[in-house]
Amino acid sequence: MSINTDRTTPVNGVISLSADEHTIGGIPVSPFESLSACAQRILTDVRNGVGGFAIAINAEKVITCSRDRNLEATIERATLRYPDGAGVVVAMRLKGARSARVAGADLWLEVLRQSRGQSLSVALIGAKPEVLAATRRRLEADFPDIVVSVARNGYDGARDIDALTRELAAAKPDIVFVALGSPRQELMIERFRAVHGAGFYMGLGGSFDIYAGVKKRAPLWMQRRGLEWLFRFLAEPSRAPRETKRLKFLALLVLGRL
Ligand code: UDP
Repeated sequence: MSINTDRTTPVNGVISLSADEHTIGGIPVSPFESLSACAQRILTDVRNGVGGFAIAINAEKVITCSRDRNLEATIERATLRYPDGAGVVVAMRLKGARSARVAGADLWLEVLRQSRGQSLSVALIGAKPEVLAATRRRLEADFPDIVVSVARNGYDGARDIDALTRELAAAKPDIVFVALGSPRQELMIERFRAVHGAGFYMGLGGSFDIYAGVKKRAPLWMQRRGLEWLFRFLAEPSRAPRETKRLKFLALLVLGRL
């Protein structure tokens, strides 16, 4: 992407804004005072059965969006956009909005924690077969009230999207967690929402790998200093090409173009 230095136009076209949202690179993002507050908002929609779609906004997604109109439209149709990346939190602060960082890898577990005592049904979609199996085992041990009604890995289990869509339409889980990486997971969620609109959907990226203990999360001090990206970069140098998006985001931030 060539960085547009015109200071009046944001990197993405401005998506329509609801009252509490602030645009970062043209993408509306809601500020939250804490992880818990964000989880509470999701659970309210789950309990009311109105369904929804929470999407994590980070530097990579903001930049991807400027080239990917499908993803931009999908983000617009989501019901909740939360600040998953430290860069997005900084950009919000520069616009006068204070928000906690709400990491997607923490948010789904906080939602489940707050739902204790209720028997919600969930779908788990994504990750390698052994990671998915370990995720399911740990989830059922940590949250005995939860019923896992659908579990499909992100490889052969997610190849036949029509079959998976039919399975979700029949099982009607309260919450559908999709851990396939972006933007594939968001685009898939759109297909699922079309047949099971009362479900609440969350895209989780590599969160199952962390929960299953296959990948390590950055230590807390790095998370608190907004350095989780550095930890992932050092742990998986193959992610280097993805880091160029973070640099572009930083450049736009400095240029006041977000
Ligand atoms: N994945 C999958 N099917 C695929 C490719 C990836 O289920 O065809 C999974 C992969 O096993 C990993 C997750 O998707 O668990 C993506 O993780 P990544 O760390 O890339 O996502 P991020 O958190 O950066 O969005």
